[in-house]
Amino acid sequence: SQQSTALSSSNNIKVIVRVRPINQKEDDAGGQTCISQTSKQALKLMTHPEPHGFTFDAVAGEDVDQEGIFQVAGQPIVENCLSGYNSCIFAYGQTGSGKTFTMLGGGLSEASFGAQPVCHQLQGLIPRVFDHLFAKISEQRQHPAEGEVRQFLCKCSFLEIYNETLTDLLSPSDTNLLIREDLKHGVYVENLSELVVDSVQDVGRLLAQGSANRRTGTTNMNRESSRSHSVFTCILEMRTTDATGITHHMSSRLNLVDLAGSERQKTSGAVGERLREASSINKSLSTLGLVINKLVEAQDGAHRHIPYRDSRLTFLLQDSLGGNSKTMMIANVSPALTNMAETLSTLRFAQRTK
Ligand code: ADP
Ligand code: MG
Repeated sequence: SQQSTALSSSNNIKVIVRVRPINQKEDDAGGQTCISQTSKQALKLMTHPEPHGFTFDAVAGEDVDQEGIFQVAGQPIVENCLSGYNSCIFAYGQTGSGKTFTMLGGGLSEASFGAQPVCHQLQGLIPRVFDHLFAKISEQRQHPAEGEVRQFLCKCSFLEIYNETLTDLLSPSDTNLLIREDLKHGVYVENLSELVVDSVQDVGRLLAQGSANRRTGTTNMNRESSRSHSVFTCILEMRTTDATGITHHMSSRLNLVDLAGSERQKTSGAVGERLREASSINKSLSTLGLVINKLVEAQDGAHRHIPYRDSRLTFLLQDSLGGNSKTMMIANVSPALTNMAETLSTLRFAQRTK
């Protein structure tokens, strides 16, 4: 059978494929599946005439629960953040494949998120990441290294990118925010709300507030979350005063990104707003794929132009992709035969062969 090799072997970019359980609708339609996991890193897609094998850093089958995903994708990212490096976690996949389940959690529709607490077992990466981060911070506060004083400040922002325009989800009247770049701050979003958080509960409140704004929308356009990217960012500032009285500053960014649905947006026949929307989704996801692909290639030491500026998403995340930053790409797929074409396209994206 055909075999695609792992392109994700670099240390700083990891690709995890998460296969969700078959759902009721797929079951009612016959319940045939098209994926068979062949090892902890590999799966086979039952394409015809022959199956197509894929290898990634990890394949998480339906038996892997939210805690399991956190251990693979969340924990190393928190450690990275506490060491002063930037990170990104992306959830990629077609609408209904489990992106929001992976990032936020399950048992609730996105629309009711924040209205009631998510049952602990179903909590997604974001609450688990902050649980762990705050536990580590309080550990370090209570038991600093000999003679050291450490202070932490954690600030969060939450924005949405729709049609290449940025909206502050924590202050939704602020639409069309601009991305700026200067030597002092690097790349930043002008006027974006940044709120200090001290606990997982604080983070939960911001998530609930932002998700509510996402659902209401700020324009009268029929915007759906499946057509926009949401970016939850945590900026962690650390100040350490050592035994000799010298103070060191460290700052890192952690970006948690729930991407727009990757299903191919038809541009043929679409006009006006709908065409603009379709083209911008295709463009931003393909630019993200291209940027990651170039970053992987650039690890061979050759200088390459990385097209960060070709989409708002990649421009915004420029300082958190590449270099010493760590990136986790979680490609979510449905196991159903009826979704095979989209699953193949997601797996191909995840391999970054394009
Ligand atoms: P997306 O955000 O990609 O559109 P969702 O995260 O909303 O998809 O998932 C679609 C549905 O499938 C939701 O009802 C969600 O709870 C469920 N689901 C997704 N992944 C899993 C999983 N690994 N285990 C159980 N249910 C899941
Ligand atoms: Mg979603």
